[in-house]
Amino acid sequence: MLCVTIGRSRHKAMIAEYKFLAEQGAELVEMRLDYIGRHIDLRRLLADRLCPVVITCRRREDGGRWEKTEDERRMILRSAIASGVDFVDLEEDIAGGIPRYGSTKRIVSLHNFEETPQDLDEIHARLAALDADVVKIATMANSFSDCVRMLRMVEASTVPTIGLCMGDIGTLTRVMGLYYGSPFTYVALSSERKIAPGQVTFEAMRDIYRPDTINAETKIYGVVADPVAHSLSPHIHNAAFKHHNLNCRYLPFRVPADELAFFLQWCRDFGVGGLSVTIPHKEAMLDLLTQVEAAAKGIGAVNTVAIDGLETTGYNTDYRAAMDCLTEALKTQGRAFGKSDEPVRDEDLFRGRIALVLGAGGAARAIAYGLRQRGALVSVASRTEERAQQLARDVGGRGLAWAHRYDIRPGILINCTPIGMHPDVNSTPYDKDRLHEQTIVFDTVYNPENTLLVKDAHAAGCFVVNGLDMFVRQAAYQYKLFTGLEPPVQLMRDTVKRIISPVRF
Ligand code: NAP
Repeated sequence: MLCVTIGRSRHKAMIAEYKFLAEQGAELVEMRLDYIGRHIDLRRLLADRLCPVVITCRRREDGGRWEKTEDERRMILRSAIASGVDFVDLEEDIAGGIPRYGSTKRIVSLHNFEETPQDLDEIHARLAALDADVVKIATMANSFSDCVRMLRMVEASTVPTIGLCMGDIGTLTRVMGLYYGSPFTYVALSSERKIAPGQVTFEAMRDIYRPDTINAETKIYGVVADPVAHSLSPHIHNAAFKHHNLNCRYLPFRVPADELAFFLQWCRDFGVGGLSVTIPHKEAMLDLLTQVEAAAKGIGAVNTVAIDGLETTGYNTDYRAAMDCLTEALKTQGRAFGKSDEPVRDEDLFRGRIALVLGAGGAARAIAYGLRQRGALVSVASRTEERAQQLARDVGGRGLAWAHRYDIRPGILINCTPIGMHPDVNSTPYDKDRLHEQTIVFDTVYNPENTLLVKDAHAAGCFVVNGLDMFVRQAAYQYKLFTGLEPPVQLMRDTVKRIISPVRF
């Protein structure tokens, strides 16, 4: 069950949100009375009981907004119980002084916004002893292992327990708590109305993660990154799982660099089926796997891991997707210019082409490697010249200082820097006056789809490949590696397009 937390300063707005949620099918709503600025009129708030309610009134030291007296607060909590509200939230230090009455269930809670203490089991025992119907422990996750400890505590408890780790690292606990036996998990009304750090929205939980239907047979997948909150991969993969009616979920795992090995071991132990891997873990992951495909080894980075028991196999679907995009563009260009009636073999399309790669990070490495493998002449220009030189040395190309990127006239130009990415939409890594109509321009940035470079390239009459195409293809390859099924590419594309921010000029 999902419990949607709402906190508004006015009764009218609180009641309107409660009604809206009940209409949306919410099964439980937490009203945060500490958000109400004026005198609290409980009778008015609870007049129409459209769905079950939790009443909470949090002090500042527990992460709330309550500014009036403690006596007043306790009086409100007692009144809520007397009015027969479904649940009341009582902090550890007051739970003993507020007796059970009627049918109201007691949530005895503890919040720690700094850390996840080591003695979770002892804390749990103390809270459970306070005549708790539900124990709630919400702590800040500073490491992935905090989440693992929290879920173990929930699993071991005999009293219904909600164990939440706050912050982006804690998403796992918010989604998987129900599976481990929590009676419900807290969600936010919307991304603008998040009340605790790391809360997932009602809509995302209900439509994307669907924690209430996760069971022992559910196969878990995910993206491991740090940070991870911006990732579109959970949207795209969960939409595809839903489309195929698979009992699978794809979660965002925020894992700090020093915990990657611990995390991978947890994935093996838990039976996670596969991972997308992104910044900053692509290189470090490679050394932790039992097998790595040749291309990923050559690139020196993986963006996908398939896990089968103890076997972990690394792939680089960025590379495959980018090469597919460019192969298609070269074929289209060849046809348009009608150079020859003879069809050109795929492996000959790139041979001798002059390619300029902008940037020298993970994406640049995958693409420069693929281009060289196919016989293109590769130059790399990057802000940090040493990184450009290093990448050029590794793949067998030429390194350039950023200022020298116009020294060559490329047949293929690829932007592998974040320049032009939302919200920096008025920037381009390449001056429009230097674009030539015979150049294939490939911008790997996919948010927005039509970057300034893409627009300039279209205006100059170039052949254009956009990052959205690559993004969807790399995700589709991952989906096939994860499930063995043909990916629903159009659905995946539509899902990303719906989410990425509209460009504002
Ligand atoms: P990365 O490893 O962080 O590398 C970024 C590269 O861009 C570095 O060489 C960096 O230079 C350079 N750079 C950053 N800001 C710059 C600036 N203002 N001027 C000049 N150079 C700059 O990131 P990545 O994983 O390679 O990703 C790069 C971009 O590729 C992302 O922004 C993403 O949009 C795109 N991408 C797209 C897909 C897809 O599927 N479409 C997949 C992966 C990546 P320094 O070394 O000086 O920092």
